[in-house]
Amino acid sequence: TDILRIGIIGYGNLGKGVEKAIKQNPDMELVAIFTRREPSSLDCETQAIPMNFLKDYREAIDVMILCGGSSTDLPEQVLEVSKMFHTVDSFDTHAKIPEYFTKVNESAKSNNTLSLISTGWDPGLFSLARLIGQCVLPEGEDYTFWGKGLSQGHSDAVRRVQGVKNGVQYTLPIDSALALVRSGENPILSTAEKHQRICYVVAEAAADLSIIENTIKTMPNYFADYETAVHFIDEEELRQNHSAMPHGGIVFRSGVSGSGAKQRIEFSLALESNPEFTASVLVAYARAVGRMARQGQSGARTVLDIPLSYLSPKSDEELRRTLL
Ligand code: NDP
Repeated sequence: TDILRIGIIGYGNLGKGVEKAIKQNPDMELVAIFTRREPSSLDCETQAIPMNFLKDYREAIDVMILCGGSSTDLPEQVLEVSKMFHTVDSFDTHAKIPEYFTKVNESAKSNNTLSLISTGWDPGLFSLARLIGQCVLPEGEDYTFWGKGLSQGHSDAVRRVQGVKNGVQYTLPIDSALALVRSGENPILSTAEKHQRICYVVAEAAADLSIIENTIKTMPNYFADYETAVHFIDEEELRQNHSAMPHGGIVFRSGVSGSGAKQRIEFSLALESNPEFTASVLVAYARAVGRMARQGQSGARTVLDIPLSYLSPKSDEELRRTLL
């Protein structure tokens, strides 16, 4: 069988995760990592290549996995890279996905390439769970809870507070909200009613802790609407207990079937490393893109468009025999 030849664009958390995930998939091979930085500055095992040599790899790479950030990297890089390669990315700015899809679709169609956008866990596997729930239980409600998870944006907001030396923020589902959803009552719950926020903060030596705590808890948009806890710790504890990037969550569909019988679907993820898990999803979808590209397909796709059997290295016959 043919080996799928992969390239990585951008070597941050996700890029590192993809490099590791490819090793768990014997039908794939990582050819090169492309970066905007000085290649020798990357601490990677695979050869690192400056971005401007991309075109030299057209014949050597089947699928490029884009690992740049969603806010500014991906919107620019996907249009450039899809001129020459089939791509997979994890664009996660939910509100902008329709517009992103349209642009990538035009680019990929006119260059005869195939681009799968916005995969990962949310958007990604959670999107599939929401789709299945809505189709199977047309009378019902969806609920998505996130956490326990480290939120990059909220951690940055905490670190910008005066007197804060360092800190992290976790988002957690509120147990009573989970219980209410599981009761089948289909409550109306805002994001703030479903989640609490917990901050671990290292303060400057001379800082007034009560002022820091109050500034965080009353911060508009980020914390003011939420149940927020602030814990002060030292630098050593932060390093030891809060350096990982856990995440996860639960997608629910809670509804009724014809007689009014209550039916509930739960799809949950508990992730010790958000970037490594997201990377594992990207790699499985790269297999699907390789297969669809060999069939001559082009344009943009999302996870909602891909037959799930295409994610597997196993034959359809084997899947029927072992999974059904
Ligand atoms: P990073 O900030 O770690 O990396 C983004 C880019 O920044 C890299 O591609 C790299 O490009 C550059 N970079 C990384 N480290 C450095 C450094 N030390 N100095 C300078 N530049 C650096 O982001 P993540 O990998 O954590 O996440 C990427 C995106 O993945 C996120 O923006 C998020 O939107 C998305 N995501 C999606 C999920 C989903 O479920 N769909 C889940 C998790 C994340 P280069 O090598 O070219 O410099």
